[in-house]
Amino acid sequence: MPALKAPRPLKPYARALRFGWKSFVRLFGARHPRSCTVCGHHGRFFSYGYPLVADVLCPGCLSLERHRLLALYLSENKVFAGQDVLHFAPEEGMTRIVKQQGPSKYTTCDLFASNVDLKINIEQIALPDESFDRILCLHVLEHVDDRKAMAEIYRVLKPGGIAIIMVPIEEGWDTTYENPAITSPAERLYHFGQEDHVRYFGRDLRDRLKAAGFSLGEYTAREPYVLNHGLKRGEKVFVCTKSA
Ligand SMILES: [Zn+2]
Repeated sequence: MPALKAPRPLKPYARALRFGWKSFVRLFGARHPRSCTVCGHHGRFFSYGYPLVADVLCPGCLSLERHRLLALYLSENKVFAGQDVLHFAPEEGMTRIVKQQGPSKYTTCDLFASNVDLKINIEQIALPDESFDRILCLHVLEHVDDRKAMAEIYRVLKPGGIAIIMVPIEEGWDTTYENPAITSPAERLYHFGQEDHVRYFGRDLRDRLKAAGFSLGEYTAREPYVLNHGLKRGEKVFVCTKSA
């Protein structure tokens, strides 16, 4: 077998610079306009995230891909109308959309934020069983003990209630990548992509949700909505129902 030719020493630098420049050019907006399903902005979207992703930040409302996917789902499914809703780590745009659907009651909560109705630890929710019709929980489970949190969400939902859950997920992986020995922010950034994340979910997220008692529905980011609204291809909204 012939030996591989060694790359020219400057080649990786040249390639990195080329793509760095391309990213810089697209930093404040790409050629193709998008429409925001949260605020209605139509035009260029900005780059955002680590690593940087082009065309994901709406300059009108600061929504990201996940918010616009959920807003799209909610435009077709008025799941909050007339319901008693609990919203974890509430995002401004999502709050507005939930309220537009006319819930009977709307409560926000977070463990750390101050501008919420209740200070709540999702691993140990200090609320009675079967308190809410709907729970909204976006990008929280990758920060906490997810099995405890799922069990608690299930417990405080009324029979027939629905939890809308979104997390970062690697669909190419059978199993979740996690390691409780990794605790420093730098190591978590290296292993899990963010200083305060404790795992990358694999497809077994579904098994974990089912083990908590939920039956699952999924709403997926597909074309033409990915291009039209700046969504993440294949991203999912998990619609988790507690049996009646
Ligand atoms: Zn927007």
